[in-house]
Amino acid sequence: MKLYSTNNKDLRVSFKEAVFNSMPQDKGLYMPVEIPQLDTDFIENIEKYSLPEIAYKVASTLLKDEIPAEDLKAIIEDAINFEAPAVKLDDKTFVLELFHGPSLAFKDFGARFMSRVMAYFLKDGEQLLDVLVATSGDTGGAVALGFLGLPNTRVTILYPEGKVSPIQELQLTTNGENIRAVEVKGTFDDCQALVKQAFADDELNAKFRLTSANSINISRLIPQTFYYFNTYAQLKKQGLNDVIFSVPSGNFGNIGAGLLAYKLGLPVKQFIAATNVNDTVPRFLESGVYETKPSTQTYSNAMDVGAPSNWVRIMDLFDQDVEAVKKVVTSYRFTDEETLRGIKELDNKLNYVACPHTAIAYLAIEKYRSENPSDESAAVFLSTAHACKFPDIFPADLAAKIEIPEQVKALESKPKHADQLGTDFEGFKGYLLKG
Ligand SMILES: *Cc1c(COP(=O)(O)O)cnc(C)c1O
Repeated sequence: MKLYSTNNKDLRVSFKEAVFNSMPQDKGLYMPVEIPQLDTDFIENIEKYSLPEIAYKVASTLLKDEIPAEDLKAIIEDAINFEAPAVKLDDKTFVLELFHGPSLAFKDFGARFMSRVMAYFLKDGEQLLDVLVATSGDTGGAVALGFLGLPNTRVTILYPEGKVSPIQELQLTTNGENIRAVEVKGTFDDCQALVKQAFADDELNAKFRLTSANSINISRLIPQTFYYFNTYAQLKKQGLNDVIFSVPSGNFGNIGAGLLAYKLGLPVKQFIAATNVNDTVPRFLESGVYETKPSTQTYSNAMDVGAPSNWVRIMDLFDQDVEAVKKVVTSYRFTDEETLRGIKELDNKLNYVACPHTAIAYLAIEKYRSENPSDESAAVFLSTAHACKFPDIFPADLAAKIEIPEQVKALESKPKHADQLGTDFEGFKGYLLKG
């Protein structure tokens, strides 16, 4: 698989280069030059395969020239070692639980696959790979747990003091080994600014092999296609062939992967991009005008994105044709008030307690159905995180219903460690140079 940049269609890089660069110099995004088709025989019999088998089939269709079959199989078996069940809530409504990985969020799919691909490409004796990542919560945990214990790698995570939830903080600060957490006296934007300055710094680049683990890395996108295929398989097994997916969206990587799966040959009827009031994409699909804006803080804070970085990938998949996008993608926005209503309604009607991001995807299905009463497709809304990661949002009676998973209880007894830094770059640079 060769890749080009969305800012330069003539550029050609290998998958390995795209993984380590994360982003082309021209600040575009890497995209595959060719999107191969999965064979129809595989799609028609997909219900006979397991998640790792489906993942291998999809990944090898894209990456067969980059990673030999046995190695790719091993990467997938090690990375995707947890379930992604589509739980039936009523005859035609399913919730796809993507939070059964170590960090309890769907970002485990991307982060675990990416970390293993990076470790695979790092040859023996090569310089240590230094991964820098700024997080507002979920990304840091997934990346930390993804790289934990991987040889020849070191991860530095910057997170804003007092702005991540208690469970998120445990996931960032209890790892030890090759993971270090830095608590920054500032905001997420300050953390991101520090990381960006580090990547631009000559002295740091001369001394360290720096790489970024952010969500635009192409190796995070590919594994997120796996669960769309696998869900389609689970529904097909139950005789449901018409499927729509509702995806809670922030940077649009998750739904971007769904649309990549569609282009690879997955027969999905419709995608719904569900956002909070950070609604750049729903506004664009209504008006045709793409206008980013500064992000607004909401209950579904992992989707507080005013300039969704993966949107250019989606436009590229559809050759910049807005009408073509609109045939496949519907988009709705919801306020915090509606999000709370969605959480309560899901509990009342379907006896399911969901995180705020997930509740928005549920509301989007309700809205789609009210606007499209003749569409009898089965609807799947993606649950991107376990409810326990966002404890402040739930009314007491609902909070009491949330079960804390075993892996979180285990973290509670571990010692926490974070280094403290301010927002000045010289301080961060000095910290990195100390090694
Ligand atoms: C990251 C995240 C999202 C947004 O996913 P994108 O791929 O950025 O659209 C939604 N929900 C949760 C819980 C997340 O952590």
